[in-house]
Amino acid sequence: MLVLLRRGVPEAAAGEVAVRLRMFGVAVHRTDHEGRVRLCAVGDGVPVAWDDVRRWPEVESVERIPVPFKLVSRAFHPHPTLISVGRCAIGSDQLALMAGPCAIEGEEQAFTIAAAVAAAGATVMRGGAYKPRTSPYSFQGLGEEGLRIMRRAADAHGLAVVSEVMDGQQVPLVARYADVLQVGARNMQNYSLLKEVGLSQKPVLLKRGLAATIEEWLMAAEHVLSQGNAQVILCERGIRTFETYTRNTLDLNAIPVVKELSHLPVIVDPSHGTGIRDKVAPMARAAIAAGADGLIIEVHHDPDHALSDGPQSLYPQQFAELVAQIRTIAAVVGRRV
Ligand code: PEP
Ligand code: MN
Repeated sequence: MLVLLRRGVPEAAAGEVAVRLRMFGVAVHRTDHEGRVRLCAVGDGVPVAWDDVRRWPEVESVERIPVPFKLVSRAFHPHPTLISVGRCAIGSDQLALMAGPCAIEGEEQAFTIAAAVAAAGATVMRGGAYKPRTSPYSFQGLGEEGLRIMRRAADAHGLAVVSEVMDGQQVPLVARYADVLQVGARNMQNYSLLKEVGLSQKPVLLKRGLAATIEEWLMAAEHVLSQGNAQVILCERGIRTFETYTRNTLDLNAIPVVKELSHLPVIVDPSHGTGIRDKVAPMARAAIAAGADGLIIEVHHDPDHALSDGPQSLYPQQFAELVAQIRTIAAVVGRRV
């Protein structure tokens, strides 16, 4: 339920309304919008005397939020959420450009790629240290050593770090090195992991599951927000369809749909979305034209020898050319790099 308080209700009284609501047994989240306090009361099957609440003097209205993702919805939180990551406020006019290798492979690789993507205009370095691979015999990532290397490479070039966390117990370790915790597509419905990243204070990059509907994806985000962490960046990375010419089908419909339903920023991963190097740039351009808040792109200086996802990795020069094009498109849609 959305409990809208009257304009000018003193802070202490607003706090008291939240306490009284909690005494019914619901969880209460708050946001302030246009000088008014909005409280979202959540809790399935908890009996609340809503007719009494409507008569409380501080309360202007009580409405049902008509979607299952309550905290994620614009109905609760009408204004866009901005998430500070390094030098970028994700969700603002400035587009978030995240780039780097699929996996951190070693010092030289990480430093070379960090230098290249920073020079091209990225503000966040991506790179996996814990890799969810289809085959147990494929490279699984360097683990903590990979995180250590990536942190140093990113710091050397003024970049923030996004890296994947594969299970709940890994959260404190990955959070020591990364600025953003990535939840991968395969883990979008790993609810114990969503709970742990929700309890952390770090921004979360939540990838859409391979076969997840937009509603399931937003419900996954709701798990994170319900734990008190509202810093969720949604990432469209392609879904599984009957098409086989591309690795996945990048669902750019999701951008305007999510923008209408939710206040959370949404970025696009055209690398996993297409799986093919020369298809990455066109889809990256389309994503920005469609209103995405940023991009996450795989870049490798020697993709033929990459330990994962070489065929979809851009050469540094290609990434730099793409950023120049994105700059032009950004201006058309009222954004900037
Ligand atoms: C990745 O970012 O390298 C990755 C494994 O992504 P996804 O979870 O989208 O497959
Ligand atoms: Mn990858």
